[in-house]
Amino acid sequence: MNPGSSPGLDGRTDIERAVTLLTEWLPVSLHPLARIAFNYRWCWMGAAVEDLFRVVDPAVWRRSGRNPRQVIEGTARSRLDELGHDRGYVEQVRRAWTDIRHDLERPAFAGPFRAEQPIAYVCAEFGIHGSLPCYSGGLGMLAGDLLKAASDLAVPMIGIGLMYRQGYFSQRLDLSGLQHEYWTPADLDRLPAALVTGADGTPVVVNVRMRKRSVRIQVWRVDVGRVPLYLLDTDREDNEPIDRWITARLYVGDRHTRLAQYSVLGIGGMRVLEALGIRPALVHLNEGHGALSSFERLRELMAFGRGFEDALEQVRHETVFTTHTPVEAGNESYREDEIAAVLGDFMEELPIPPAAFFGLGRKDPANRTEPSGFTPLALRTSRVANGVSRRHGAVSRAMWKSVWPERALENVPIRHVTNGVHTTTWMAGPMQALLDEQLGADWRTRLHDTAMWDAIQGIPDEKLWAVRSELRARLIDYVREKSVGDRLARGESPEYVEAAARVLDPSRLTVGFARRVATYKRLYLLTRFPDRALQLLGGERPLQILLAGKAHPSDQEAKDALRNVFQIKHAPGVGGHVAFLENYDFEIARRMVAGVDVWVNLPRPPLEASGTSGMKATLNGVLNLSVLDGWWAEAYDGSNGWAIATPEAGPAEQDDHDARALLDLLEREVVPLFHDRDAAGVPRGWVARVKASLGSLIPRFTAERMVRDYVDTLYVPRNPLLE
Ligand SMILES: *Cc1c(COP(=O)(O)O)cnc(C)c1O
Repeated sequence: MNPGSSPGLDGRTDIERAVTLLTEWLPVSLHPLARIAFNYRWCWMGAAVEDLFRVVDPAVWRRSGRNPRQVIEGTARSRLDELGHDRGYVEQVRRAWTDIRHDLERPAFAGPFRAEQPIAYVCAEFGIHGSLPCYSGGLGMLAGDLLKAASDLAVPMIGIGLMYRQGYFSQRLDLSGLQHEYWTPADLDRLPAALVTGADGTPVVVNVRMRKRSVRIQVWRVDVGRVPLYLLDTDREDNEPIDRWITARLYVGDRHTRLAQYSVLGIGGMRVLEALGIRPALVHLNEGHGALSSFERLRELMAFGRGFEDALEQVRHETVFTTHTPVEAGNESYREDEIAAVLGDFMEELPIPPAAFFGLGRKDPANRTEPSGFTPLALRTSRVANGVSRRHGAVSRAMWKSVWPERALENVPIRHVTNGVHTTTWMAGPMQALLDEQLGADWRTRLHDTAMWDAIQGIPDEKLWAVRSELRARLIDYVREKSVGDRLARGESPEYVEAAARVLDPSRLTVGFARRVATYKRLYLLTRFPDRALQLLGGERPLQILLAGKAHPSDQEAKDALRNVFQIKHAPGVGGHVAFLENYDFEIARRMVAGVDVWVNLPRPPLEASGTSGMKATLNGVLNLSVLDGWWAEAYDGSNGWAIATPEAGPAEQDDHDARALLDLLEREVVPLFHDRDAAGVPRGWVARVKASLGSLIPRFTAERMVRDYVDTLYVPRNPLLE
């Protein structure tokens, strides 16, 4: 195999060409803007850099989903020429590009991995930015945050995923609160992405045989700071129409298509790397969707004459696996006939008997009635695996113990690396400015320095409270503007639409609850005791609630829960104090986790593997009120937020207990603390809790810490006895 990537074949020249084409839209003085547009590094440099695109044309910027390429291509030349003569603007563009260039040219992380042999991070979704429609929720956000942190730390990494033309669905609620879904196709030729071409100038294409024919796969390159992200795409004229659909949408319901997606990701992903001359030192499977890659690597090694056991040993040595799903049913598995229908030809290319193929995907390889799943496959073909919080690590060891029948529970090779979030993506500008002042401008590169975070205690209460109040006010401005549009589109009465412009109060205690609406997240607990909830919304010191979240299109139970909570707005006196933000996505998440006062999370333990939105809230001085599960079980220390300890009991009893505990905490602790003000109007006790939260949680739950942990505890082989 090729040692290292051959320059040019890996898509770099394609990005270069796309940049050159984009410069043709720009006056010479602004040519660096085209370079900035083709590397998502800009999106975590702060509002000043984002504004370089916004000011070109705020309307196009917004309409395009903040797509830097489209804002350049969609703006009149006269406007661009005008900016090209604006000395200050030109200087800012030059400086931003210089900063990015320096970042890209830094030497690589001083570790065992070299740029020529990167870590290949394989995931079915990546949440990089709102303009790239390749994510649905938490898993994708985590993958995007991880790539950004790897770039910040200069860890040699590449990402491998799928290019979904239609992305995940957009959400509309009707008047009754019933969710409707629609998909909007993206124009890939207008994304900051380049189709990778080979030496002859035509797209690099690899083939994978599926459903008894060859599926041709092309690949796009998107630059995320120093990390190239390769996104595979089957929408080519020379594919059968049904095969062009494989990479159209995220998490489709149809099992054959999903299996085809995972085949493209795993098998196609490895073939694309081979075609690009990239030889990864390690494959990191983020969730099992890419696990078929192990078969493709086995096939290659065996084609060079290696025996099965020997080849498997090498694949294992070069693979690590992160599991995210603490529910059996969430770990996808397929019957032999389903797999054979999609992958029969591929199985014939493999020099291993079908029994061995299916066996690798089973907890008990000999049990032919057990379907083959991606999690057992990934566990059996990786050197070491991890859960995504301390508790989830333990849950996963127990759940998958039977894969290692001869081992004691504590020797099951599943550890944990607790998730983290990318600081400068999720921390709002005013909070970053406050830290610049208090910690010094280099705090962004010292996130792991716990001593530095002690300085949080020295922030004057008034200043911190002013930032909190500003963030809340900004969010409520946004909610008002967005609610007008949401309500109009829903067909609400003119009075109700008008009222949107006055919804919520920028000084009122604001509680946020936003996440994927899955049953285990227990959105319905908010209205389990409606009278008490209404009291909180309408009492003497009322609070207000902001909600957002999508239910999976085929999850009827989640849709019902959504509708029930949505209808609470009809209760008398509530309308102005509850808002549901439709179409929860990257942008809404960013605003919500910055602007609310309290972030509520009510999963049924132990089903929250980690959770990350609460960490995002933490970065902004928002306090968590959460069930002790996932990350919160290891984060809560009695002073940095509030916790609900779910009893060991049946589901209904747990629900009653946790719904009551939530209301009790809100009534007895949260509301009084928020309203306990001094003469200057500052809630001192509240601010003290915010400081405890910032100081104790930020250093432990950043994506930077997470990437360091991955390097130290998983990427570098350690204890051979355990692995
Ligand atoms: C962070 C995030 C999530 C994941 O939140 P959890 O707390 O892990 O459920 C989901 N969707 C969006 C849009 C996010 O930003």
